[in-house]
Amino acid sequence: PSLSRSSDVTLDTVSWHDIGGYEDVKERLHRALEWPIKHAAAFKRLGLHAPRGVLLYGPPGCSKTSLARAAAGASGMRLQVLSGAQLFSMYVGEGEGILRTAFQRSRMTAPSILFIDEIDAIVGGRAQETSSGGGSDASTRILSTLLTEMDGLESSTGVLVLAATNRPHVLDAALLRPGRLDVLLYVPPPDVLGRLDILRVHSRGMPLAEDVDLQALAHRTDTFTGADLASLCQEAALMALREGMDMAHEVNKRHFESALAVARPSLSAAQI
Ligand code: ATP
Repeated sequence: PSLSRSSDVTLDTVSWHDIGGYEDVKERLHRALEWPIKHAAAFKRLGLHAPRGVLLYGPPGCSKTSLARAAAGASGMRLQVLSGAQLFSMYVGEGEGILRTAFQRSRMTAPSILFIDEIDAIVGGRAQETSSGGGSDASTRILSTLLTEMDGLESSTGVLVLAATNRPHVLDAALLRPGRLDVLLYVPPPDVLGRLDILRVHSRGMPLAEDVDLQALAHRTDTFTGADLASLCQEAALMALREGMDMAHEVNKRHFESALAVARPSLSAAQI
């Protein structure tokens, strides 16, 4: 199968400092990834197994991809990204082939992370078809390939499967058994302190005027995700630029106000 549809193996450069908030998620991911490598001898001595799979779940747009990239970058692990939706939409047999090749590459480039975004796309299809009596062959085959590949990972191979979903309830229970995706991390919408931190990350390269109050902005952006806050900062800087290409030296409060006026946050009040 063609490899061009799975993304390249990369040594990612995003660091934990590029991700605002989420301190406890970062800490737990860091532990799941780095401890088995850094303290390999102690793990062996104590008979501890390195986790093979971690599931990040939570509403869309809430930093799951960023967390995967930072986790890889921070621990010096290679990262390979696959999309569940893409795997599911391929021709018969192609999805399984891509998945097998991705595992093979991960083993060859270990220590490495195989990130499967929207993993529910594989299993969600199966759930739907089953309720109508059929059972989707495609998703059953992709799921069983995934389970076989995960079961074949020795904990010493240094390959971690990181998966993300915003529909954890549709996942097949077999996927969540011990030795598979057995570490579950909830990635919630950012709270006010998280939002402040994210605003700081995205405005740190900007010349902010003194009248910009990031704390107040954090309070006014309840339904914003990390991605929304990143574009809010970009939009504010663009507003400054629009005022005058040569005169724009600072981004100030009124630029943020104009950006807020046109911003469209991703979350609804019910999701926070
Ligand atoms: P998810 O993976 O949760 O479905 P997503 O893929 O839309 O969401 P990300 O790719 O993690 O979300 O985020 C998109 C962009 O938003 C990132 O490239 C980054 O610039 C910004 N961003 C998201 N979360 C954060 C954060 N916690 N701190 C800083 N920037 C963030």
